Amino acid sequence: MKILFVSSEVVPFAKTGGLADVAGSLPLALEKLGLEVKICMPRYKMIKLSADKTVIGRAIDVLFVENEKLFGRDQLYGDRFGDYPDNLERFAYFSKGVLETAKRINYRPDIIHCNDWQSSLIPVYLKTLYKNDEFFKNTRTVLTIHNLAYQGLFDRSQFPKTGLGWELFSMNGLEFYDKVNILKGGIEFSDYITTVSPTYSKEIQTKEFGCGLEGVLRARSDNLCGILNGIDYDIWNPDTDKFISKTYNAATVENKSANKENLQKESNLKADKNAPLIGVISRLADQKGFDLIAAIMEDMIKLRTQFIVLGTGDDKYHVLLEKMAKLYPKQTSINLKFDAVLAQKIYAGCDLFLMPSRYEPCGLGQIICLRYGTIPVVRSTGGLKDTIQEFDGETKRGNGFTFSEYSAPELFRAVKKALKVYKDKELWRALVKKAMGYDFSWDHSAKEYRDLYKKVLTKKTLNPVTQ
Ligand code: ADP
Repeated sequence: MKILFVSSEVVPFAKTGGLADVAGSLPLALEKLGLEVKICMPRYKMIKLSADKTVIGRAIDVLFVENEKLFGRDQLYGDRFGDYPDNLERFAYFSKGVLETAKRINYRPDIIHCNDWQSSLIPVYLKTLYKNDEFFKNTRTVLTIHNLAYQGLFDRSQFPKTGLGWELFSMNGLEFYDKVNILKGGIEFSDYITTVSPTYSKEIQTKEFGCGLEGVLRARSDNLCGILNGIDYDIWNPDTDKFISKTYNAATVENKSANKENLQKESNLKADKNAPLIGVISRLADQKGFDLIAAIMEDMIKLRTQFIVLGTGDDKYHVLLEKMAKLYPKQTSINLKFDAVLAQKIYAGCDLFLMPSRYEPCGLGQIICLRYGTIPVVRSTGGLKDTIQEFDGETKRGNGFTFSEYSAPELFRAVKKALKVYKDKELWRALVKKAMGYDFSWDHSAKEYRDLYKKVLTKKTLNPVTQ
């Protein structure tokens, strides 16, 4: 089975969030299952390779769509003041470029696996502009939605840049409240749609989480499912991690404290092994619950905790966190940047990790945390609900601490529950060891994707809307 995996970001070439992790690890897991995979992504400025392709895994070609004017920039989608204004043109070019690249190298994929709005025009193009192209006659498409809030919305005046006829600027096409909605096109035209956790796949069909597309998604519910993301257990491995001070595994978990000590030192926090060190690594976006974190910061500080944040994003959160750093310089370390090495040190060195998300399609932070024996405190939504269950000191069930209502007091209650267990050193150690024993590698989920691809290829009329 031949798969062309298309993503606007792929580890190790370019990353802003979880999509890059998935795009850089799922193809490897699929290859291990015997599938033939190629990856296609834009060539951004930071990709310093001499050729227009390279190889990852055993033999996965990574093909780059080039255009200096459109992709030769410092960032992927925009700067801290907003999205690049020509993003529609950029990703329409990319989407066509993917199809043309496949033709140029004579690679006839059985499945083109698209991800998020940036490659959502591909299913649309295949069923319109390329409808009669023999080359793609047997090609089917799967679209994975990593975050429904990012839909690729543009002013209607930009529609011609898609290269599509105006008849597609309609209710059953890409029109959405008089704007162009690229993701909507992908949902309507792809043969199958997946999201990154079972709970999120149900949530997005409701008004609360559907971001206006709940109706469109419900109409395709027979061809929609959730497959939980995995992480690459070779990359995220405290036993071999080159960036942390001391490696450890579940049997040598006492070595984790050396990482805490070092992180405290490097972050100008007091070297205190009994102070609970709480971490956050995240895009600074409304989605991630920073308003709740800011609201409980003072109360947490009073409980003699230490707090380390790593993130970049919305300007308003930069301002808010800088204020926190000034107010509590001795107990906080605020790092407003993207730093993959510091991230590994935080995952390894912290005791607790907060993810109080408003919504969370899957979330990788909590999964990486478990791997590093750092205990997550999460809001039970989306993939957080599918991966983190409340720890019960009596039965020893569960792997973290949870809350449901999106409110600061509820988050604080969950943190206090965690701190109570933290004080019981023996119980905490049992929890840490248990957390490290979970398996969220790709082994299971990659098989689900393989089975889905097979199903998509054998089903006859997958997408009645566009037949
Ligand atoms: P999302 O995709 O919504 O941003 P996820 O939890 O799915 O959230 O994935 C986030 C990924 O990005 C994780 O691998 C996390 O470690 C990483 N990450 C986020 N912000 C930073 C940062 N500032 N520096 C380094 N890594 C980061």
